[in-house]
Amino acid sequence: MIYLGVDIGGMSIKVGAVDEGGKLLSKCTAITPLGDPQKAIELIADLCREAVDRAGYSWAAVAGVGAGAPGTVDGDVVTYATNIGWYGVPFCKELTRLTGVKTAVGNDANCALLAEVKFGAARGYRDVAMVTLGTGVGTAFLCGGTLLLGNGGAAGEGGHMRVKTLGNRCSCGREDCWELYASASALERRTRKIVETHPQGVMASIAQREGKTSGKVFFEAYNAGDEDAKRELAAFQRDVADGLVNIANLFRPQLIVVGGGIAAQPAMIAPLEDLVAEQTLGGKGNPHVKVVAATMGNDAGIVGASVQVM
Ligand SMILES: [Zn+2]
Repeated sequence: MIYLGVDIGGMSIKVGAVDEGGKLLSKCTAITPLGDPQKAIELIADLCREAVDRAGYSWAAVAGVGAGAPGTVDGDVVTYATNIGWYGVPFCKELTRLTGVKTAVGNDANCALLAEVKFGAARGYRDVAMVTLGTGVGTAFLCGGTLLLGNGGAAGEGGHMRVKTLGNRCSCGREDCWELYASASALERRTRKIVETHPQGVMASIAQREGKTSGKVFFEAYNAGDEDAKRELAAFQRDVADGLVNIANLFRPQLIVVGGGIAAQPAMIAPLEDLVAEQTLGGKGNPHVKVVAATMGNDAGIVGASVQVM
C-alpha cells in the first residue's frame, strides 16, 4: 500500500506518495488558489492522482490521503486558516467524495511533529515538543504519546507567548510574542542591522554578493569568524531559549526538536540544550530536556501529513 501526503501552504500545495517506511516516492506541486477552498480541494484530488501515477502505482494501492493545513483543524474540518482564506471547510468529507478513499487532516505543525516522531529525530520518544523557526514560530506537542489538540484543535500556539515588554506588535494583535524574537525573520532583522551598522564588514560584503540578508548570509559570515555575527547569534539564541525554557517548564518533554531552515546550522542548535538546562525549574533535580535539530527536511510536511492515515 501507499499513502498520500498533502502539504497545504500559503504559496503552494505539495502532494506526494509515501511508502510505509516514510520514503517519498513522488511529488507534485501547484500554486495555492487562495480564498477558494472548493477549487483547492479539486486541485488536491487531481494532484493526488498525478502523484500516484508518477510513483508508478495504481489508485487501488492508495490506503488513504492525509493533509496538513496552515491553521486550526477540528476533527475533519479546517476551522480557521486565515493565510489561505479557509473558514469552516469540511475538508475530509469533500476530498473523500472526490477520491473515494479515507482522508484525514491536521494542523501543519502537528504533521511536522508526526513526521519526526514516526521517521525522524523523535523516533521512540513519547514526550516531545517541536518548534519550527520560520516566518513565524510554530509549535506542536506530543504528550505521553498523544498529540496535544486542545479545545477545537486550537492548542499549541507557542509562538504567541509573550516573552518581553518592549511594545513590539505581533500579527496576532498582542505585543512581544516569542515569534517576533525567535523566528527566522527575527534573525534576518539582526542580519540587516549588522549590514547597516557595519557597511564595510564581512556580513555586508556577503549580503551584497548574495543580494539578500537571509539566514544563509548570516551563517556564512558567522562561519567566516565575523564578530558581529557571533554576538548577534548569541543574543538570538537567548531569545530562542526564552521560549524553549517556558515550553520545558510547561510540558517537560524528553526532547525538543527544532525545525526550519536555520535549525540545520550546527552553530544554531548546539548551545540551546545548555541554555535550557541552566534555566529550567529544578536544575539537575528534574529530568534533562534534550534539544536537537529536525531531520525530516523540506518534505516533512508531506510525509507527516501521510502519517495520519498510516
Ligand atoms: Zn502573537
